[in-house]
Amino acid sequence: MEQIYDLVILGSGPAGLGASIYAKRADLKTLVIEREMVSGGQVLTTYEVDNYAGLPGIGGFDLGMKFREHADKLEVPFAEDTVLKIEPADLAENELVQAAEAGAGLWQVVGESGVYLAKTVILATGARHRKLGVPGEEELSGMGVSYCATCDGAFFKKKTTAVIGGGDVAIEDAIFLARLCEKVYLIHRRDELRGAKSLQNKLMAMENVEIIWDTVVDSINGTDKVSSLSLSNKKTGEKKEISVDGVFIAVGISPNTGAFEGLVEMDAGGYVKAGEDGRTSAAGIFAAGDLRTKNLRQIVTAVADGANCVSSVERYLNEQ
Ligand code: NAP
Repeated sequence: MEQIYDLVILGSGPAGLGASIYAKRADLKTLVIEREMVSGGQVLTTYEVDNYAGLPGIGGFDLGMKFREHADKLEVPFAEDTVLKIEPADLAENELVQAAEAGAGLWQVVGESGVYLAKTVILATGARHRKLGVPGEEELSGMGVSYCATCDGAFFKKKTTAVIGGGDVAIEDAIFLARLCEKVYLIHRRDELRGAKSLQNKLMAMENVEIIWDTVVDSINGTDKVSSLSLSNKKTGEKKEISVDGVFIAVGISPNTGAFEGLVEMDAGGYVKAGEDGRTSAAGIFAAGDLRTKNLRQIVTAVADGANCVSSVERYLNEQ
């Protein structure tokens, strides 16, 4: 009979690792399943994190590693697998007896490489970059079109780049690139940025950044590599083309919840419906971090979600 975990956590970003730390301290038999053997999630590609309490200005990669080191110190077990679906456990009769003894309501997490039995599951698979959806984006991806300034910015030293978007990520990317590039355009579809005021102030102080307001990208142009952007001003209708060597798209995120369709209720954007306690519409399935319906998607709220979910898991297991 396969082993039965009290808790299987899917994802090893701040939410998943935060949950794993609380789960270990609660003495729950826990497994973290991560898609790749690199923990940390989106924070790994953040250049600098300046709003995580107690660690001002820490590099995103370093913070991700610190979360992982903490989990390792508590001997959290990890498995590398891509989860395809979660369904009620399908067990033979004698196994069901043992499962009943171990606590009713079992889930099986079906991965590409294995099946994992769990009394509870925390979904913490986070989110990924949203696409802009304009001609040239797909074709020139990796040839000047990028979604990660900290990963690819170094290829554009002393060159001209553009960042698309007006949120925290777009502003952070523009600041990061401005330190490397000769010139950086920040192209935003409105006349006001969405990102944090402190970031905006930093951005405005950079002399080689030009913000192009009220403007959308019609196409990304180039043959073997990006050479220009065709732009439209939404207020005046004016069209223009600017020469760039690279374009960094930072127009938000979409949740990694495809594998959970039909399992838990989601909103129109594909975010798993769950409150602060992480409880979803399915008993024993909890949601933490960026994939959950919430107002503020930050590292600190992801870590907090992980802790809250484990508290709910403990309560749920005690109720069984
Ligand atoms: P975001 O906050 O959702 O911002 C996305 C930006 O892209 C918005 O400015 C939006 O414009 C623009 N946009 C969306 N679709 C577009 C389109 N089709 N064409 C042109 N522009 C488009 O996303 P994010 O910056 O990726 O951040 C994701 C989450 O992580 C946020 O909750 C953010 O606060 C958090 N985060 C926080 C930090 C930090 O605190 N240091 C760092 C990184 C990320 P509108 O403004 O017009 O909607």
